[in-house]
Amino acid sequence: MFIDSHCHLPHGKYTKTTEQLIQDALSAGVTNIIAIGTSVKENESAIKTADSFGGVYCSVGIHVDEDRDKTTESLRQVLLEQLKYTKKIVAIGECGIDISEGENSRPIQDQINLFEMQIQLAIENNLSVIIHNRNGDDTVVRLLKQYVPQGLRAIAHSFSQSWEYAQQLLSLGAYLSFSGMITYKGRKNIAEIIQKMPLDRMLIETDAPYLPPEGFRGQPNEPKNVVAVAQKIAEVRVDTLEHIALQTYENTKTIFAVH
Ligand SMILES: [Zn+2]
Repeated sequence: MFIDSHCHLPHGKYTKTTEQLIQDALSAGVTNIIAIGTSVKENESAIKTADSFGGVYCSVGIHVDEDRDKTTESLRQVLLEQLKYTKKIVAIGECGIDISEGENSRPIQDQINLFEMQIQLAIENNLSVIIHNRNGDDTVVRLLKQYVPQGLRAIAHSFSQSWEYAQQLLSLGAYLSFSGMITYKGRKNIAEIIQKMPLDRMLIETDAPYLPPEGFRGQPNEPKNVVAVAQKIAEVRVDTLEHIALQTYENTKTIFAVH
């Protein structure tokens, strides 16, 4: 049994129905899926998916590039409402920092405010935070240092930074989640982290429909492909696929407090 700890379901990029994607995942041994919210609208559909299918959980959150016409306070009110919709919400996010050249996202201070609001909301509701981080390493560490003592539990989603940075996050109690990116030829640096880090802090994800693993590129990624991520980790750690599956399954249940 495998858990895909992070995918976008439903999403316009898929060519299969949600039902088919979940069925195909089940056939591949992927028994649990966490559907991630990124905007007011996507949160609604993630909640609906979780409520409609056994084994599917969801998160609610505002991605740094989404709902830019709304204030942080009004988004907080919406999230508070959405948290009441279902008991299958297991995290806040994805949220975080995205500093990409040429892209038109929120000014940095607005990004930090939005991120911090969601961290506080997670702590108040005893939920984990799923972190999206592109060129925001220092801010993420600063906020973790501030909020971990107050009860923040964090997951660094689709981790691809250095071993040095991984160590910083691990020392702050964070879990690191790996996607199909670890199978890409240009991303060999991630193997060092997978080898060295404690297995009990590792999660696996697809980030479907994005980041299809090697062998599946050129088509929308799917939750079933989380098996290929686990396979790569087993290979790098010289471990069995069964052990990686079981341990990441347990880790996901622990960090998201899923029973
Ligand atoms: Zn994502």
